[in-house]
Amino acid sequence: MAKEKKSEKTLSEKKGKTAKSSKKEKKELFASYPNLWESRSQDDIDHAMAFSEEYMAFLDISKTEREFVNNAVEALTDKGFVDIESKKSLKVGDKVYSSIKGKGLMFAVVGKEEAVKGFNILGAHIDSPRLDLKPNPLYEEDELVFFKTHYYGGIKKYQWTTIPLAIHGVIMKKDGTKLTLNVGEKDDDPIFYISDLLPHLGSEQMSQRANEFIKGEDLNVMIGASKLSDDDSSNACKYAILKLLNQEYGIDEKDFVSAEIEIVPAMKARDVGFDRALIAAYGHDDKVCAYPALMALLAQEAPARTCVCMLSDKEEIGSYGNSGAQSRLYENFLVELFAKINGGYDELGYRKCIANTKMLSTDVSNAFDPKYASVSDKRNTAYLNKGVKMEKYTGARGKSGASDANSEFFASILRIFAENDIPWQTGELGKVDAGGGGTISAYLAKLGMEVIDCGVPVLSMHAPYEVISKMDLYFTYLAYKCFIENIK
Ligand code: MN
Ligand code: MN
Repeated sequence: MAKEKKSEKTLSEKKGKTAKSSKKEKKELFASYPNLWESRSQDDIDHAMAFSEEYMAFLDISKTEREFVNNAVEALTDKGFVDIESKKSLKVGDKVYSSIKGKGLMFAVVGKEEAVKGFNILGAHIDSPRLDLKPNPLYEEDELVFFKTHYYGGIKKYQWTTIPLAIHGVIMKKDGTKLTLNVGEKDDDPIFYISDLLPHLGSEQMSQRANEFIKGEDLNVMIGASKLSDDDSSNACKYAILKLLNQEYGIDEKDFVSAEIEIVPAMKARDVGFDRALIAAYGHDDKVCAYPALMALLAQEAPARTCVCMLSDKEEIGSYGNSGAQSRLYENFLVELFAKINGGYDELGYRKCIANTKMLSTDVSNAFDPKYASVSDKRNTAYLNKGVKMEKYTGARGKSGASDANSEFFASILRIFAENDIPWQTGELGKVDAGGGGTISAYLAKLGMEVIDCGVPVLSMHAPYEVISKMDLYFTYLAYKCFIENIK
């Protein structure tokens, strides 16, 4: 009892010392995450608008992982990057890349520090939710021709009906050549289409659950509706389409079996709002992080530590396969980079290098939507326009499957951001029991490096048309650049 009384006295003594309120002190003690349109200069806003325009142009030609890789390699080559295979050894300022099956990409700028001290890595994914073609996609029903699809990643199936769709992908022809398809993007291209029921006859459909009224087997894309004038036989419309495809591309029905064809929204990236503050586009997840990561690497000449960017495939389905982030092929690049800087491979040296490596897993997260406030904890969610979201841990429910960044590492990044005037915010993906999700961070953390998730908040994530803030995009670029240039 005596002890408690003593502490009460101490508390009241303390209270006496700070009894007067001070606006300045209150501001210093409270955490605040300002809206960047309000807190930043006109110069920052102008830069954000200009950066966004370049992003939108890049996004419009990079809707699939293969297209993103091709366009990134072109940008890298322009800046003097070469295939790491062509180099016997690497020195400060050397710029190298390696394509991962044409669907993922690793690239690096060699820094001044020795390799064993570790690399600074930015890692994003460049696949997005979409509809893939089934192996036998082509069929005719009641004189209409369709492609059957198999959706890829987490989608709300009903969102994919009655929107303009484009067809992207590759077909390996019998003569061994690769045919690249891209139809539906140019203004005078045809688009493709999944129909939905008219409301006049939709009462039964409308009473079904939203995850049931459009089934996976209903996502059939309309690709033709005509026939040859002298053909009254069965499958005449399918024949007309196959004949056209054969004339145009030299393919037949069996060539689809081994093809990789993706159906994506045909819409271009557009400004949203009278003030043009936001961008709507397909595939912000995760190209809105991949693009600033690419730009941050392109800005490097001779960094202190070797800077690496990893753009991976298959994140939306668990990062599997040899082009997904769990593939050894990504690590092979790190091994080769280490060996060629180090003047030869040494196992312990490489492992120390990875243990000393620092990484931002640059993936998007959900932005708070006032319309759906109930799924988020308002005190622990990211908002549009407040900058890059730092996410200490991911996972679902009791942090299941989480990659949880070490406090020491997280705080060291926040110190660097503070020194360089980089705004940031934090939050979780929804309420504790509402759901959750993961990123590639867990797979890289497993190798031993320090990793934390850090990306742009997205509205309507995984929808065919997602929305982000231009200020968030630009300051994410500055945050990534700041990280690879300054973290030790
Ligand atoms: Mn993502
Ligand atoms: Mn995603």
